[in-house]
Amino acid sequence: KFITIEGGEGVGKSTQIGRLRDFVAGQGHEVIVTREPGGTRRAERIRELLLEHSDEAMPSTCELLLMFAARATHIENVIRPALARGAWVICDRFTDATYAYQGGGRNLPIDNISTLETMVQGTLRPDITLLLDAPLEVSAARANARNAAAGTSDRFEQERRDFFERVRAAYLARARQEPERFIVIDATQSMDAVTAAIQHALGERLLN
Ligand code: C5P
Repeated sequence: KFITIEGGEGVGKSTQIGRLRDFVAGQGHEVIVTREPGGTRRAERIRELLLEHSDEAMPSTCELLLMFAARATHIENVIRPALARGAWVICDRFTDATYAYQGGGRNLPIDNISTLETMVQGTLRPDITLLLDAPLEVSAARANARNAAAGTSDRFEQERRDFFERVRAAYLARARQEPERFIVIDATQSMDAVTAAIQHALGERLLN
């Protein structure tokens, strides 16, 4: 099975991914955890290109193509081989993030994204997508606290609030379009309540 986890900044994805890995492994399945952009040596180098601060402007189209370039090698080298041997793949962000960030956030045309999706993925789609959803006030507060603790800053200080509002709206719109694939979880709950909600939903949809 191919499970993806999506959401904005500061929604608790990393914590839940660790717990989900333990949960799936506890059911006796081989499980790998991977992430996008990244997941292979070459794709992690593309990730660095995407995230580095530079005085050279990053055109949205360049960002979009790099996302799919990284995805192409990630799918070929990691995701497809794992699925082919029967492993469960848990991926921290996947193509829904491209629809949300490059589509919703950067306003790139959805048709272009879906053309690239077909080019790069063929018919490969996640079996289940967990969307951790929280209003901006909650996720921004968490992300800022994390960055303050780490002494780093990130896009929350640099990018406009409406960018993240568009990201969230685009994620929720995708979830409404594909209710069989998406599980939307209220990420304002406690970490333990989110974990319980994920395990309950997976039990209903996948483990029976
Ligand atoms: O999920 P993670 O926090 O590791 O993502 C790293 C950064 O890449 C985040 O700031 C996220 O907003 C950004 N990103 C993006 N477009 C994507 C996927 C991630 O801008 N399609």
